[in-house]
Amino acid sequence: MAAGSRLYRTAGIVIRRRNQGEADRVLTLCTPQGKIEVIVKGARKIRSRKAGHVELFSRSDFIISRVEHSWDIVSQAETVEPHARLRGDLVRGAHARYAVELLDRFFAPGEGDGALFDLLDHTLTWLCEEPDPALSIRFYEQHLLGLAGFRPELFRCVGEHETPHPLRPPTEHGDRPPYGLDPERGGALCRRCYATRPRSRWIEPLSAAGLSLLQDCQREPYSTLRTRAIPPALHAEAARVMERYIVYHLERQVGAARFLRNLRITAPPAQPTGDGTKTHRRL
Ligand SMILES: [Zn+2]
Repeated sequence: MAAGSRLYRTAGIVIRRRNQGEADRVLTLCTPQGKIEVIVKGARKIRSRKAGHVELFSRSDFIISRVEHSWDIVSQAETVEPHARLRGDLVRGAHARYAVELLDRFFAPGEGDGALFDLLDHTLTWLCEEPDPALSIRFYEQHLLGLAGFRPELFRCVGEHETPHPLRPPTEHGDRPPYGLDPERGGALCRRCYATRPRSRWIEPLSAAGLSLLQDCQREPYSTLRTRAIPPALHAEAARVMERYIVYHLERQVGAARFLRNLRITAPPAQPTGDGTKTHRRL
């Protein structure tokens, strides 16, 4: 194999950085081909030329050297969009950290695609520029969950109905009883189903305005959504119900991973066959 074929070029957004050894740094990147981990040799040395191009949240062009059985090594990096405000502004930075952590938790290495990369890139830009970064985050959550396969059903009730029961929250809702968000069933409940629901610590009440906002985050382009003024109480409600929804699905994911790990640990060790053929463990 020619030496050149071991190099590849990719765009990437730095979503996590951690120190490795004396001077190196491991980066988790969101790229158009999926999430990857790479190492920057000597990144923490004062004279490192690459260090400035691998800041958290920055989008850079990378030339990476493929390595078997270890991290691929960053050979060159050049920042295209630093998203610098996210490292200087406390509130915007906190929103950005939430955005990248959510991506990191929902997508395993190798998972993700160009749509996910574009979503993160746009969101980090909005978080730098928009007057209401929380609205950018609400939009991001809905679309990230969609790409991860966990999009909440918000347009019809996920409760018990013989025929689909559409959810059309009125614009003037007054003090009417709330809808609900049920993470276990994966979406919103109509007022009747919320009122008669079996007890669950996961189900949260959701006002008509809250449901309407979340629906708009799914169906409206961001250019339309961003013109809306969201009262702080409504933001707080949307943040609360979505946190509940996300924690439920992340715990299930983490739980599933742990369950599989335990199965592997308790499975009897594979017997050496001596003839070099692979043995398969039954799960
Ligand atoms: Zn219902």
